[in-house]
Amino acid sequence: MNGAGLGIIAMSLWSSDEVYERDPAKYPSGWVPASLLRRMFLEAPTFPLGLRALLTTPRHVAMNVIVATGEDEALNIELTPTSYFITQVPLAKEILTHSNHFKDPGFLCKDSISEGSRGSSSLFRDRRVEKVLTQSWPNIDEDDFKTAFKDHVGYPNSVCEHSVPKELAWTSSHPTETTVASIIFNLSKRTLQLCKGPPCMGSFNEYKFNFSKID
Ligand SMILES: [Zn+2]
Repeated sequence: MNGAGLGIIAMSLWSSDEVYERDPAKYPSGWVPASLLRRMFLEAPTFPLGLRALLTTPRHVAMNVIVATGEDEALNIELTPTSYFITQVPLAKEILTHSNHFKDPGFLCKDSISEGSRGSSSLFRDRRVEKVLTQSWPNIDEDDFKTAFKDHVGYPNSVCEHSVPKELAWTSSHPTETTVASIIFNLSKRTLQLCKGPPCMGSFNEYKFNFSKID
């Protein structure tokens, strides 16, 4: 989130389009790391300029971003090094969720690029969150996100993910992984709520930044 009310959340994606070896002939200007690309969006003074930075800056790995503005607009963008696939938020029910696999039909029907994810809970975690939010639509508030983030369907590889002891490693696709933090941005109020660790065991604290206005 930045002082202009822009927000971005990111999810790792994997595709056959990734580039790890530098080829000056193919990429004369190189590329920027994914984290820097996301930062470039937040450095933009407006939503359109942030979108332009995301789509035109050379990149080498795939990622998904949900980008939004406190002016009440949001988009989902699946990015690969050579392509991007944009989903607009449906107007009938303004909820858009995503996890760690490609969803855009434009990507899925492309023969030249393929999905690199090996499945697991990514295939339903986005749906679990959408289900909770849909129950409260059109009066969704921060508490609905907190409820969604505590979901344990598919435990331990659930929305609220837990690491497991060595003897139970066979029960998990990612035995050592756990939810590091859950964050809720409210772009119109410029506040964020943060819970460290799995949200079923922690509590959310609210933070309000003293943003300066960008002229
Ligand atoms: Zn949990």
